[in-house]
Amino acid sequence: MQRKNDIRGGLNIFEGMLLSRMNKLVTALLLSILLSSVAFAGARPQKAVFILCYHTFMGNNPKSTIDFSVDEFRAQMREIITNGFRFVTYRDITNDTLTGVTNVLITVDDGFKSMLPVYSNVMKPMGIQPVIAIYPAIIGVGSAFMTWKDIVALANDGCEIASHGYNHERITADLLLTSPKVFSNEIYRSKKMLETNLGRPVTAFVYPYGVRSAVTVSNVRAAGYTCAFTIERGAVLLPLSENRDMHQLSRYMIITSKKDWENIMTYMKAFVRRTNI
Ligand SMILES: [Zn+2]
Repeated sequence: MQRKNDIRGGLNIFEGMLLSRMNKLVTALLLSILLSSVAFAGARPQKAVFILCYHTFMGNNPKSTIDFSVDEFRAQMREIITNGFRFVTYRDITNDTLTGVTNVLITVDDGFKSMLPVYSNVMKPMGIQPVIAIYPAIIGVGSAFMTWKDIVALANDGCEIASHGYNHERITADLLLTSPKVFSNEIYRSKKMLETNLGRPVTAFVYPYGVRSAVTVSNVRAAGYTCAFTIERGAVLLPLSENRDMHQLSRYMIITSKKDWENIMTYMKAFVRRTNI
């Protein structure tokens, strides 16, 4: 204590200077707090999109948590519009032409034939141009999946075709070690095959099951995909470069649980309210 007083005493001659420095420090501190709150306000997303992921629209399998009837799907799309959101396209988000946070992009995984009636009866009349994630090994196999002709027609109508692997494998670091050819097919061969058959670039990748490792993501990037989609939930910021990783963008996988759908809509509406504060 005594020593402390001595030190203080010894510094007395600089007291005025110290006080002045202290004032400057306090001012700097207050300024930095002010600036950080301004920075926070600036960081509040100004542009964002919610990306929803569907699978099948057969409506004949109540046990499946990812199968909707056409009517159930239409009801959800109407709810999106009723709540003030609008449908946007893959081109809108990659070209960064959107404003605001009330944007919704529809994606449909796996290439089931049930895409066709829901597209012509619901999506097209409502102006929805979805991203359709296809894995080439399944195309034309049996009656449940689309043919190349179907997919080309959808692409020509403005839908975006994404690669969903070649054979819908879990593309992990282990797969690269055990079956490098399979790993490569999923990322590189699928892209090439889709592009050859569609006659246009394929720039979006959708991880089968959402599964990936760091080496998966780096290969997807190296293969020339502009962006890639997961099934981790959250809003996607725009432009896409604002996200932590353009090759791991969030999507909401939509399941038949009404409660889950309500939760998603509640979150989306709350996100819009927070942004408008
Ligand atoms: Zn899939």
